[in-house]
Amino acid sequence: MSALLVLDSVSAGYGPVPVLHGVSLEVAAGSITAVVGANGAGKTTLLRTIIGQLRPTGGSIRYDGADLGSTKVEDMVRRGISLVPEGRGVITELTVDENLRLGGLWRRDRAAAQVLLERMYELFEPLARRRKASGHQLSGGERQMLALGRALMAGPRLLLLDEPSLGLAPRVTAQILGMLRTLRDDTGLTVLLIEQNVRSALAVADDGVVLSLGSVVASRPATDLAADTDLRHTYLGF
Ligand code: ATP
Repeated sequence: MSALLVLDSVSAGYGPVPVLHGVSLEVAAGSITAVVGANGAGKTTLLRTIIGQLRPTGGSIRYDGADLGSTKVEDMVRRGISLVPEGRGVITELTVDENLRLGGLWRRDRAAAQVLLERMYELFEPLARRRKASGHQLSGGERQMLALGRALMAGPRLLLLDEPSLGLAPRVTAQILGMLRTLRDDTGLTVLLIEQNVRSALAVADDGVVLSLGSVVASRPATDLAADTDLRHTYLGF
């Protein structure tokens, strides 16, 4: 399978403080790749670097065969990259419907946006019952679904998720991560999932990348990583 996103020896950090040290990884088109690692491993920094919030100090990032390095954050969505940020990214003062429509706002094709909106309500059934509810009336799981739906309204090819399981019950986490599989299968969506919840992430991902102190220490099919007891004990704490 060809790679949609390729990081080659990417280094980045905050001012003089280096965090990522020559990170290389590939995200195959139409697959789910999970980046896992302990607290402070550099997962969020990696995501920030991919979306251009942080400029790499070394290496290159290629998306769909072209350099992503000079793309501005606001242009990412036009290039087909959507982010579901940690902490959900839902505007709590707006209703479910308004939040979803906001995600598709940049699309010129109103009819297509409407079709996509209805598709979101099919996919995320709990939201369909709460179209007029405001964001702050939602449960954590509903809010995460809404954040996901909002990102999908932009019609991305590559979806980036930062810790979607944060603060959610295991059953809800499994439901939401399971939806990523449905999306991958139904639409060929490519997903890069950043997770501290290693078990859940590896259970849903095709490939896994283990990050430790800003370096990649393993990059393999997710089932292989989950079965590697030594690696799990050393880097993942279970
Ligand atoms: P977590 O799951 O806790 O968010 P993480 O794997 O996402 O962990 P990062 O948030 O990328 O890790 O943090 C990696 C390192 O970068 C940590 O040592 C952290 O202290 C440092 N760091 C993160 N944000 C900043 C910042 N804005 N300024 C300086 N250092 C930072």
